[in-house]
Amino acid sequence: MFEDLIKEMERMNGQSLSVAIESDEKGYIDKQCPNEECEFIFKVNEEDWTSIFKDEAVWCPFCRHEAPSDKWFTIEQAEHAKAEALAVMKGTIHNSLRSGAQKFNRRQPKNSFISMSMKVTGGPKRTHTIPAKAADLMQLEIQCESCESRFSVVGSAYFCPACGHNSVTRTFRDSLRKIRAKKDGVDIVRQALIETAGKDEAELTCRSLIETCISDGVVAFQKYCEGMYDDFGKAPFNAFQRLEQASELWEKAVQKGFDVWLREEEINMLRVLYQRRHLLAHNEGIVDAKYIQKSGDSKYKEGQRLIVSASDVENLVTCLEKLSLGIEDVCSNA
Ligand SMILES: [Zn+2]
Ligand SMILES: [Zn+2]
Repeated sequence: MFEDLIKEMERMNGQSLSVAIESDEKGYIDKQCPNEECEFIFKVNEEDWTSIFKDEAVWCPFCRHEAPSDKWFTIEQAEHAKAEALAVMKGTIHNSLRSGAQKFNRRQPKNSFISMSMKVTGGPKRTHTIPAKAADLMQLEIQCESCESRFSVVGSAYFCPACGHNSVTRTFRDSLRKIRAKKDGVDIVRQALIETAGKDEAELTCRSLIETCISDGVVAFQKYCEGMYDDFGKAPFNAFQRLEQASELWEKAVQKGFDVWLREEEINMLRVLYQRRHLLAHNEGIVDAKYIQKSGDSKYKEGQRLIVSASDVENLVTCLEKLSLGIEDVCSNA
C-alpha cells in the first residue's frame, strides 16, 4: 500500500531542490548583505552578475562586508526557498499516498464479503517550485566607474558590490543629496514631532537637524577634496576643513583656486558658513569676537546665538557642488 511513498521517500533523500529567482522588470536581481549588523538590500544587474561579479568575493555597497557570491541571498528568498521545498515535499508525499491508495483500491477482490477502500482527500498537489518574486524597483541606479557593473539601491551606496571600489565623487554627490533631503524633510519631521512629542521637542530637534547640515556639508567636502587630491600628494591633516587653506592647496596643485569657480559673494558666503560651523562645533553657536573678525559677518554681535536657516544650507550645498564640478573638471583633464 505504501510502496509508492517509500519509493518517493528514497528518491527524495539527499536530493537538492532548486528554486529560481526572478529578476525585476529592469533585469535586476535582489541581494542582501549577510552581515547581521547590516542586512542592506540592493539589486544587481543579472547579466553583470554572471559576467562581471566573481565567485570568491562580493562586497556590500553599504558596509563593504566581503563574502563569496553564494552568501548574498535575501532573507526573503531564503524563506521562500524553504517554504517551496516544504510544499514540494508535502506534494510529493501526498501524491504518492494518493497513487498508493488508488492501487490499493483497484486491487480489492471483486466478490469479497468485506470490502476495504482507502481515501486520500484532495487532488494531486504540485511538486514543482515557484520562483521567488523580485522586490520593487530601486530608485538609485549606479554604474561602477571602475568595473562598469550595474547595481541599484535605496538611499545611498558607498562601494561597488562587484569590485569594492569606493567612488569619491559618487559618495560626495550622495552626501549632498542626503543633506538636501534632511533640510527638505525638516517640516515633516516638525509636524510629526509636534503631534507626538510636543512643540519643545519638535523645535529643538529640527533646529539641530538644520544645524548639522552645515557640518555635514563641510565634512563631506573635506573628504571629497582629500580623495580627489590623492594624485597630487599629501595634504596637511584637516587642511581641507579650512576654506582658505583648501583653496590654496588646489591652487598649488592645478593652478586654480576657489575664486575661479565661485563669484566673490559666494566665497564670502561660504566663509561665513564655514565659520558658523566652527562656532556651532566649538562654542555651542554663541558668537564671539573671533567669529566676527574671521567671518566678516556683520549681522551678529558678540554673545548672540547663531540662527541657521534652510536657505543657508541650500547656499552651502550649491557652492560646494559648484566647487566639486570645477575640481572634477580639472582632475579629469589632468
Ligand atoms: Zn552590509
Ligand atoms: Zn566596480
